[in-house]
Amino acid sequence: MREKTATAVDAGHSILKVKLGTERDREIMAAVRDAASDARIRVDANEAWTPPEAVDMIETLAAFDVEFVEQPVPVDSSDGLRYVHERSALPIAADESCVTLADVPRIADRADIANIKLMKCGGLREAKRMIHAARAHGLEVMLGCMIESNAAIAAGCHLAPLLDYADLDGSLLLADDPYAGVPMADGEVDLVGGDRPGTGARER
Ligand SMILES: [Mg+2]
Repeated sequence: MREKTATAVDAGHSILKVKLGTERDREIMAAVRDAASDARIRVDANEAWTPPEAVDMIETLAAFDVEFVEQPVPVDSSDGLRYVHERSALPIAADESCVTLADVPRIADRADIANIKLMKCGGLREAKRMIHAARAHGLEVMLGCMIESNAAIAAGCHLAPLLDYADLDGSLLLADDPYAGVPMADGEVDLVGGDRPGTGARER
């Protein structure tokens, strides 16, 4: 983890998302923070903790200067999400608990950030509806992604002006992405830098 973090920092990534939910979360967090002292760090627990565990862990994560915590508790624990949100030392993002438009009002009083994904909600139009609904409910908005090619990432990039957080790095994890998309040099979405029609995606 330490080596991977150093590699990411050396490659110019100034915002890191750390997946936790292991037996060694504190150790991992200490190693990552040590290797990335200046990075903005976000944590995703992917539903791993019980509500009391989450409150406890988030206390620790706040000491590591983490920005926010995503999906601390299981999606079927809606009251658990509320429990954590009421006690959390850090902002809470809902991912698995926020799949389609109907979920937005459900999470509005138990999260701070709606993590919307094209692959969860079905496409650009539904994502845009969710963004507006989330804003109307006082939530911040993140557009996330799965492991997906630049064909999908490029589409998501077009929603970037409506977002607080564009978490669109899924294609970076592909060994061989068949598509090129919207330029994102140094993590900046550049919608005018591409001169291609449509979403800007094309086969490599
Ligand atoms: Mg997530």
